[in-house]
Amino acid sequence: MALMNWNEHFVTGIEIIDSQHLGLVKIINDSAPFLALDYKRNPRHADKLLDQLTAYASFHFQTESDLIRQYQIDTRHTDHHFSAHKEFFDTVINMRALYQSGTTLTGGTLLGFLANWLIFHILGEDQALARQIKAIEAGNSPAAAYETAEGGRNDPTKDALTQTLVDLYALMTEQNRRLLEANIELQEHRNHLEELVNKRTQALEAALLTAETANQAKSSFVANLSHEIRTPMNAIVGLTWVLHEQSNDPAQKGKLHQVQNATQQLLSVINDLLDISSIESEQLHLEPLDFDIKRIIEHAIAAQATRAQHKGLRLLYKETTPIPSLLRGDPVRIGQIIGNFLSNAIKFTHDGEISIQFGLTPGTDNTALLSCAVRDEGIGIAPEALKRIFQPFTQADPSSRRRYGGTGLGLAISKRLVDMMGGRIGVESEVDRGSIFWFEIPLTVINAQHHAAIDNQLQPNATNSTNPIDAERLTEILNRLSGLLEEDDIQALTLWREMSSVLHPALGPLAEQLEGELNNYNFQAALTLTKEAKSIAW
Ligand code: ADP
Repeated sequence: MALMNWNEHFVTGIEIIDSQHLGLVKIINDSAPFLALDYKRNPRHADKLLDQLTAYASFHFQTESDLIRQYQIDTRHTDHHFSAHKEFFDTVINMRALYQSGTTLTGGTLLGFLANWLIFHILGEDQALARQIKAIEAGNSPAAAYETAEGGRNDPTKDALTQTLVDLYALMTEQNRRLLEANIELQEHRNHLEELVNKRTQALEAALLTAETANQAKSSFVANLSHEIRTPMNAIVGLTWVLHEQSNDPAQKGKLHQVQNATQQLLSVINDLLDISSIESEQLHLEPLDFDIKRIIEHAIAAQATRAQHKGLRLLYKETTPIPSLLRGDPVRIGQIIGNFLSNAIKFTHDGEISIQFGLTPGTDNTALLSCAVRDEGIGIAPEALKRIFQPFTQADPSSRRRYGGTGLGLAISKRLVDMMGGRIGVESEVDRGSIFWFEIPLTVINAQHHAAIDNQLQPNATNSTNPIDAERLTEILNRLSGLLEEDDIQALTLWREMSSVLHPALGPLAEQLEGELNNYNFQAALTLTKEAKSIAW
């Protein structure tokens, strides 16, 4: 922003003087932004300007002195012209001292002085000098030239006008200066704010990293404890079941039944905690198998049917589009998500109907999008709670834990699993009307020929089957089963039930034995049998 604007009133008509005046205006305009600040903030620029001014004054005043001498200008003019020059020099030196001491003078005052001096001197002395030079060049004597040239200056109207102009310039200069100062302050504030935001962001990022690392360390610690926690729990569940079966005393049976319920509840909490910890510490991996989705659904419904029946709820199953029996994906985790949706639907519905709907949309090649929706007529979820329902440890209503129990982890686990499968999960709900929980996941469709081959070749005593696909699939299932058994993961039981129609004919009597051990929660014995089955499968 220019502090001073050059106009035709400043033109003296003496080329060398005008070009030097223009140079001075440029120096002031270029320096104005820095001089608006106090000296301490920008000493380098301020010193440079003051040096330039001193150099300019020496040079310019010398030019004028030469002209005065050359044209023998009348001393009545030169006296006050030279005294004006001296005053300029003295003021600049004086101001420099004050400005640098930083106590009494701001750059703005210095600029104001410069602008005033410049206007007054150019419009006054320098114009008069130029008029005399021109009069002398036209043939007048210096004395006569002084009379004509200076005569004009004594005109009171002209003086008043000049003064008004000078005052206006002073006002404008001050306003310009304030604007500049405000602009610079604003810029400084912005820089400071940006710096502050950057610092805060860095601090937050560091805190987030620390928190994430700590959370991951915690999750990994819990996940690593999986075996230590699950083994004794499974022993308790299994032995309680055995005792319950063997006991003939009704009172004892009743108590054992209570122990069974309590341990089941505890086991499900532990399983949720271990699952979320394994997911968060990236220790949980999907393990795809060729599976029959209908079996998974049947199993999920069968597992919840008794609870639904006790509450008088109807469970309906609907297939919107025909679904091929064999798909490739992780049946254990898909079953877990469906089971979680169903279990919540039953838990949060007091009367009415629960329906489970499946569909398959074919994609490119042999992929397809499996969609599942569980609709209930339960208590529903308030809109503000819907937003955080998939976050760990979150329940829609603070009283929910007291009334319905639960950890608030089921949906968080489901969401993470669906994310890992590259799918989408969501919910629509209305308070007191019910909810629809849904997910979509891409899966590979195993072609019908392959499917038929497996069905035909899995004969009742097919343990010595030579079909490579058949054996391959069987081994895959048994590998997954042994992996879960090694972790004492209750999902081993789920996988067994989901796959039993394939495993029974394939493994024959070994399957009966394995199932017995699994039902007794005797996972170590079940693991040994699974390993034996694997060696037979090949
Ligand atoms: P939990 O059921 O163990 O509390 P979830 O993560 O499965 O944990 O569910 C979180 C919360 O979401 C539940 O506590 C409940 O408030 C709400 N919720 C889930 N499913 C339903 C449903 N079908 N109807 C109403 N509320 C539900």
